[in-house]
Amino acid sequence: MGSRCSISANSGYCVKAGGRIVPIHTTSSANDNEKQTKGTLGSSSSVQSLSILHFNDVYNIEEREREPVGGASRFKTAFNSLQYKNPLVLFSGDALAPSNMSVVTEGRQMIPVLNSLRVNVALYGNHDFDFGVDHLLDITKETRFPWLLSNVQCINTKRQLANGKKYVIITWNNIKVGILGLVEWEWLETLPTISTEEVVYTDFIESAREYIPILKNNGCELIIALTHMRTPNDLKLFNEVPEIQLILGGHDHEYDYQFNDDDTKNRLFVKSGSDFREFSEINIKMTQPITIELVKHTVTKKYEQDKELQCIVERFSVQVSNGLEEKIGEIGCPLDGRFSSIRSRETNLGNLITDIMRHCTSSDLALLNSGTLRSDTLHEPGDFKLKDLMSILPMIDSLVVMEIRGHQLLLALENGVGGYPRLEGRFPQVSGLSFTFNSRAAPRSRIIRTSVLINGEMMREDQVYKLCTKSYIAGGKDGYSVFKDCNIIVDEESGITLTTLVRNYIISKYNNNNGLHSVSSCSLNCREFMAPGEINPIIEGRINIIN
Ligand SMILES: [Zn+2]
Repeated sequence: MGSRCSISANSGYCVKAGGRIVPIHTTSSANDNEKQTKGTLGSSSSVQSLSILHFNDVYNIEEREREPVGGASRFKTAFNSLQYKNPLVLFSGDALAPSNMSVVTEGRQMIPVLNSLRVNVALYGNHDFDFGVDHLLDITKETRFPWLLSNVQCINTKRQLANGKKYVIITWNNIKVGILGLVEWEWLETLPTISTEEVVYTDFIESAREYIPILKNNGCELIIALTHMRTPNDLKLFNEVPEIQLILGGHDHEYDYQFNDDDTKNRLFVKSGSDFREFSEINIKMTQPITIELVKHTVTKKYEQDKELQCIVERFSVQVSNGLEEKIGEIGCPLDGRFSSIRSRETNLGNLITDIMRHCTSSDLALLNSGTLRSDTLHEPGDFKLKDLMSILPMIDSLVVMEIRGHQLLLALENGVGGYPRLEGRFPQVSGLSFTFNSRAAPRSRIIRTSVLINGEMMREDQVYKLCTKSYIAGGKDGYSVFKDCNIIVDEESGITLTTLVRNYIISKYNNNNGLHSVSSCSLNCREFMAPGEINPIIEGRINIIN
């Protein structure tokens, strides 16, 4: 337990032996830290050393109001304060989405930011695929660094998905470093724009074991894995592949780390927080065995805004903020988007959104997984702005219409309520449909069959109904695997996106002059539904629970 505790005033944290981060003090300036850390490193001249700056999961380039404020421009200043170390900058994925800005820019604002931060190597995260592979390929042409994806291949091209690199070998401070980029199967399954049938996935441990000998044969002295997976899988990799000295993870947003051993400290797993609020400085000395020092940095207002990046932030903010501040309608009652409500019962927000889906696609019924509705807020009555809509529906979700038989619908509903009372995203919000479920019954046998009514009539198990849902769960995601067996009659390329549909509805209700133009993207038979009037959705007994 005798390892030295190196104080970083910059972060206010000290990494102690035993794997805990202990706050030390938060009053010193960044400059103090710079001098202090310089002194620590500068003493051992004969031993080669390498510093790495690592971050992951960044969504909003704008800073937030409360500390740590983060934001790309203060983050850049924090990075700049460590430039004298000539750091290798590594990023573990998720930059292009989701954020309100990304809905408008499709993630383009991140490209100049990542370039300005002088990222050397990055790994794709799941949200980098939110706008599809073609878009990803298109905009990453402008990044000045390679993107990794070691263990996922595209079946058609026989190359790594989105042209990711299998590995990168980079020489930094005369140290040859081999870098892998590994992801887990679980998030591949949830990608809205890629089918798991279009890719070949190799287990991350198998893949690491395949590439490490290649890296070693190429003379790599240090093996790093960038990862985008949940922590238990990172720890599995950490324990089963000891040749990897550093696992730099993403996907989880909480700062977390673990050394292999309190005394030797020659292997480290770390996740570096999220959203430009935290990052890691990792100082490595190439002793035998190597030694690793970790410093957590937190981006607070004590860092000035970097001017170049602030210009970029402002340029993109202006571009989207004008649009987001636009009042698109008025609501007459509170809209309940709280997770505790929408993931456990019928809510008026769920009714509003699914009614729009059903009417505007001329379907018999609509079903949406509550995880789609993201605001976690009780929206007050009054002005409704585009940014309110974006907080509810930040993702670009395409709708599909399918033919479903009554017995298949039962399976879908069973899945939807199967996790209750856990607040799961699969819990359904529905339109054109009412049902009762017994929460004390075992999952998959909770729906009271005789209670299922479709537009007021008893559901028939062999009858075909037209169901509108979003393409994500139509593809079987979130446990709705039964939808994969249904015949699609309006596919996602043809269907409008949900956010746009809801926007059109709210605007048409608000505009008293003439609803026809603003609903031109909707079918004729829903124009009555879209006609001007107050938005005042109510709860009407669509989902009934026996507790
Ligand atoms: Zn992720």
